[in-house]
Amino acid sequence: MHPFEEFGGIVRIDEPMAHRVWFRLGGPAAYFASPRKLEELVGLLRRCREAGIAFKILGGGSNVLVRDEGVDALVILLESPFFADVKVRDNIVEAGAAVPLTALISQSARAGLAGLEILTGIPGTVGGALRGNAGGRQGAIGQFVRRATVLDPADEVQVRERDDLSFANRESNLDEPVILSAEFELEPEDPESVVRRMRRIWIIKKENQPYGHQLSGCIFKNPSPEVSAGALIDQAGLKGTVLGGAEVSDRHANFIVAHPGAKAADVLQLIDRIRQRVWQQFGYELELQIQIW
Ligand SMILES: Cc1cc2nc3c(=O)[nH]c(=O)nc-3n(C[C@H](O)[C@H](O)[C@H](O)COP(=O)(O)OP(=O)(O)OC[C@H]3O[C@@H](n4cnc5c(N)ncnc54)[C@H](O)[C@@H]3O)c2cc1C
Repeated sequence: MHPFEEFGGIVRIDEPMAHRVWFRLGGPAAYFASPRKLEELVGLLRRCREAGIAFKILGGGSNVLVRDEGVDALVILLESPFFADVKVRDNIVEAGAAVPLTALISQSARAGLAGLEILTGIPGTVGGALRGNAGGRQGAIGQFVRRATVLDPADEVQVRERDDLSFANRESNLDEPVILSAEFELEPEDPESVVRRMRRIWIIKKENQPYGHQLSGCIFKNPSPEVSAGALIDQAGLKGTVLGGAEVSDRHANFIVAHPGAKAADVLQLIDRIRQRVWQQFGYELELQIQIW
C-alpha cells in the first residue's frame, strides 16, 4: 500500500520525468499527480505533510533539471483546465498558473492589451514565470502583476496584492507552496501593433538563443544588470566546451545543450566546471537560475 492509495489512480509511482522537462533528462519521480481541481490539489498537499513526503510543483518544465537519480517527492503537475483559465475584462487579464505564457501573451495581444509581449519566446507557464520573475532586457512579468492568488503553507487560498509583492533579478517573493493565478494590468493598444512587436521580439530571440535543442533556459543568473553571466562564460573561453553529452552552447554561452545520450550528471559537471573557471578568472560566484531537482 502506498501513501496516496486513497487518491486512486491519480497518483502514479516511479513516473518518468525526462519527457516532462525541456532538458529531456533525469530519472523518475517517486510519486506523480496532475490534480484536476483545487480540492484534489489541497488533498495531495495535506497527505504529503501527514506522510512526511516532499512535493514539488511542475509547470512547463523549462527551468528544471532533474537528476539522474530521480525526484524523491510527489511531483504535482499543474496542467488541468481548472488551473488554465484566462479571463479578460477591461485592461485586466486574469490567468491561471497552468496557462502557457505564449497563450497569455497572444490572448492579451488579441484583446488589444500591450505589455506582456516583451516576454515573447519565453517558454513555460504563468506559475513558473511568476516564481522566477521571467523576463529579459526589456522587462519582466512582475511589473505587470496586479495581484496573485496562492495557496499558503496551511493550504489556505490567499490573495496577495501588488503592494505586498516584490520582483527582482529572476526571483520573486511569491514563495508560497503554490501559485494559483494572477491578474495582470496592461495598456490598451491597437492589437496589430502589439502583434508586430511580438514578431520583432521573436526574431531577435531566435537569433540569439539556441532553440530546438534539449536544454533549459539560462543556467546562471546575471551577477548584476551590467555583468552578464553569458559574457563571463564566453570570455572564460568556455563556449563549445563539451563534457560527456553536455555542451556549452556556441550560440549563447549561458545555455547548456544536452546531446542524445547525455546524462543529467554531465550537465551538472559542466555547471561545476563553468563556476570554477569563472570564479578563478573573474572572481564572480555564479548563482544558478535553473532549479535542480
Ligand atoms: C529555450 C528557452 C528560453 C528561455 N528564455 C528565457 C528568458 O528569456 N527569460 C527567462 O526569464 N526565462 C527563460 N527561460 C526559462 C523558463 O522559460 C522560465 O523560467 C519559465 O518561466 C519557467 O516556467 P515553467 O512553467 O516551465 O516552470 P518550471 O520549469 O516547471 O518550474 C520552474 C520553477 O517554478 C516552480 N513553479 C512552477 N509553477 C509553479 C506554481 N504554479 N506554483 C509554485 N511554483 C511553481 C517550480 O517548482 C520550479 O521551482 C527559457 C527557457 C528555455 C527552455
